[in-house]
Amino acid sequence: MKNVQTGKIIDIQRYTVHDGPGIRTEVFLKGCPLRCLWCHSPDSQSLEDEIAWFEIKCIGTDSCGKCLEVCPAGALTKGRRLYSKFEKREIQVIELNRDACNNCGRCALVCWPKALYLTGRDMSLSEIMKIIDRDKLYYRKSGGGVTISGGEPMVQYKFVKALLKQCKARGLHVCLDTCGYAQWDHYREVLEYVDLVLYDLKHMDTLQSRRLTGVPNQLILENARRMAAGGVPMQIRVPIIPGYNDSEENIRATGAFCAGLGPSVSQVQILPYHRLGSAKYERLGKKYLLEDLKPPSQEQMEKCREILESCGLKVITG
Ligand code: SF4
Ligand code: SF4
Repeated sequence: MKNVQTGKIIDIQRYTVHDGPGIRTEVFLKGCPLRCLWCHSPDSQSLEDEIAWFEIKCIGTDSCGKCLEVCPAGALTKGRRLYSKFEKREIQVIELNRDACNNCGRCALVCWPKALYLTGRDMSLSEIMKIIDRDKLYYRKSGGGVTISGGEPMVQYKFVKALLKQCKARGLHVCLDTCGYAQWDHYREVLEYVDLVLYDLKHMDTLQSRRLTGVPNQLILENARRMAAGGVPMQIRVPIIPGYNDSEENIRATGAFCAGLGPSVSQVQILPYHRLGSAKYERLGKKYLLEDLKPPSQEQMEKCREILESCGLKVITG
């Protein structure tokens, strides 16, 4: 890991209200060890820079073509002709050969319409804290603060620790949004600076966990137990993916596990599957595997809620 004063950031969003109490600034870090089939931010999975290609933003090689001049790898050529709604005429867009591309990002620097852009950027602690500091008044008035999310923020745990320390030095409330798949030693380094952990649980069966997320679940369950035993305030979050993890058996097992964690868990949040991130896959040259999957119905969500409540848990939806 490089300099802890610099992190690889995918995005920073201000005024968020869904990931922790009150109004928050949310810092999304790049890199994740999981590959959930339903992931809505595939651009955050790799820790490395990746070039994204958003075809409809290209204004055409005849009036621009700057990217063709700067690519050192010969990965860009003139591509197909299409009708551009923005330009209101037929244009010729570029063709990106990902096998030749080394993700150097030079094309993104000259592409002002942002048809080519790099996912992720290096940001210093002071740059991030300047953004966080802008909304201190909102945090105070709303009971909000800062949420560190991803990707999986623990991939950059040293940078996360440095960021959390700065937040706590300012007296800010801090949430850590994590999938639970990181070494316990790394969690131990950051948890003393965290007020609330938003902890994802995806499947209670380890074979299914491996099939759906790419990793087994033992470490995830063990870390949750350790946090709960240490009195770390937690909210558990369960994405409801129809046909993949919403069986009565799995929801019951999830409920029993969460109830067994004891008073550290203040609530369980069930999050209905959505496909808002599916377009990002194409921009990265990746395939979205759940193309035909529909979000759960209200009845399906209600059923999950009832099962979890029957385990004695406080449950919220969405
Ligand atoms: S620099 Fe951007 S807008 Fe210009 S031709 Fe290349 S991709 Fe299209
Ligand atoms: S990222 Fe670099 S190698 Fe890839 S297309 Fe752009 S300029 Fe070429």
